[in-house]
Amino acid sequence: MADLDYYEILGVDKSAGEADIKKAYRKVAMKYHPDKNPGDAKAEEKFKEAAEAYEVLRDPEKRQRYDQFGKAGLNGAGGFGGGGFTDINDIFSHFSDIFGGGFGGFGGFGGGAQTQQYRGGDLRLKTRLTLEEISTGVTKKFKVKKQVNCDECGGNGCEKGHHPETCSACNGSGYVVRSVRSIFGMVQQQTPCPTCRGEGKVVKNKCRKCHGEGTVSGEEIVEIKIPAGVAEGMVVNAPGKGHAAKRNGVAGDIQVLIEEIPHEHFVRDDNDLIYNLLLTVGQATLGDVVEVPTLEGKARVTIKSGTQPGTRMRLRSKGLPAVPGYGYGRGDIVINISVYIPETLSKEERKAFEMLKDAENMMPNKSIKDKIFNSFRAYFS
Ligand SMILES: [Zn+2]
Ligand SMILES: [Zn+2]
Repeated sequence: MADLDYYEILGVDKSAGEADIKKAYRKVAMKYHPDKNPGDAKAEEKFKEAAEAYEVLRDPEKRQRYDQFGKAGLNGAGGFGGGGFTDINDIFSHFSDIFGGGFGGFGGFGGGAQTQQYRGGDLRLKTRLTLEEISTGVTKKFKVKKQVNCDECGGNGCEKGHHPETCSACNGSGYVVRSVRSIFGMVQQQTPCPTCRGEGKVVKNKCRKCHGEGTVSGEEIVEIKIPAGVAEGMVVNAPGKGHAAKRNGVAGDIQVLIEEIPHEHFVRDDNDLIYNLLLTVGQATLGDVVEVPTLEGKARVTIKSGTQPGTRMRLRSKGLPAVPGYGYGRGDIVINISVYIPETLSKEERKAFEMLKDAENMMPNKSIKDKIFNSFRAYFS
């Protein structure tokens, strides 16, 4: 599958919108769905290809990189998932919005020889973080309403004293073989057992509390670790913390959307933090030692005499760390110097400024103008 174009795989135009891509993927996925093509390795390959294509094209950032650089542009996108799928079960769990949180997302479907498990649905949460929390990483607690394992039956769905029984229709294998008429004549086709829906087991004496489902509505305090360096709009996935699955299947995930609380001192620029340092005319002219805030406390900075507004200074590695998988080290605090010009003046101050106003030394000469313009140009290029 080396040189397949993702757009061709899904059968969409390069200009296709998000909804069209999702629709196209759903169509292709259903066509090559393993339930419809049991034991068909080619269909499985197509199913995986389509998932890989959709994974990239549904994400505006990955899609842009793919459009620009092809597959090479997707390397190093680890951490938050890049590249293909090797396991079909990953596809069901990854796109649970397409395949549904209940049945349809099976765990353990491999060539039809294994029984199937239910998969719990995913949950989406939001969290607002300060830059201080982002700087160190943080564990957040959430009170979540979700499906939890039934405490009455321990999740197996059976009344006390009973156990799930082996399905007699499929002898516990989870699949049945049917003869189907096709253009090649009669073909033997393996399909999930309709009696146990692939589980291989049936619950005869259903638990009264959960009616045999193994899950009930509940509430739980969930702790989720947010790595350092995350940014507004990122999504952190916590596997297995979502809805419990029916009859002790595989629990879903929780996806946490990151929001950033604006900081009182800093503007974030990627992993750098910009700080606007406002000096007085006197400080900028005569020089001074000043304190600037950092995320951990304060730092002392020496201002040289004759410092121009627009000068930028860096406190190395005092910014934010790179998010795991997206780089190394920490950004800087960038100090942007501005100078406060008084808005009102006393009589004496007015006099002093009037005296200075036309003094020759107050006027920048050509070489100073050039120097200031050059640093201005360097900043914008
Ligand atoms: Zn129960
Ligand atoms: Zn069965």
